[in-house]
Amino acid sequence: MPFYSGYTGKIKRGWTDQLFSQFIRERAKWQCQNPKCEKKFDSKDGKQKRKLHCCHLGYGRAHIPTRWNEYNCLALCIGCHQWVDQHPWRAIWLLNQHFNVEEIIWVKDQYRKKVNKKEFELIERERIKKLIKEMDNEQR
Ligand SMILES: [Zn+2]
Repeated sequence: MPFYSGYTGKIKRGWTDQLFSQFIRERAKWQCQNPKCEKKFDSKDGKQKRKLHCCHLGYGRAHIPTRWNEYNCLALCIGCHQWVDQHPWRAIWLLNQHFNVEEIIWVKDQYRKKVNKKEFELIERERIKKLIKEMDNEQR
């Protein structure tokens, strides 16, 4: 399995996916995380919100053990999402702009984990809720 799976098929998005996507985009302060772009979006505008995507850069969203991993994802605008999907090196470059080696290696370790989807999703949902709380406290 290559570092970048390049999976582009349709996968159903659940409640945890929505929560996670919201977290990733809020962490980015509703700004595209490509340092060459940094386009801003209005979080109060539903139409604009949808133009900023939560992108799975290391491993694709189809892979459960890394599906809700905050070091596997960045918020990118539609244009940068397409740009990054065109070549795996771009995804690696972007991850390196935001995360350190330990964080990236943690994603790689998670990738190999054998998980039960339902149980794992519940664990991850609680973990994301905690991350959101921590982020809210820091911003206060
Ligand atoms: Zn962008």
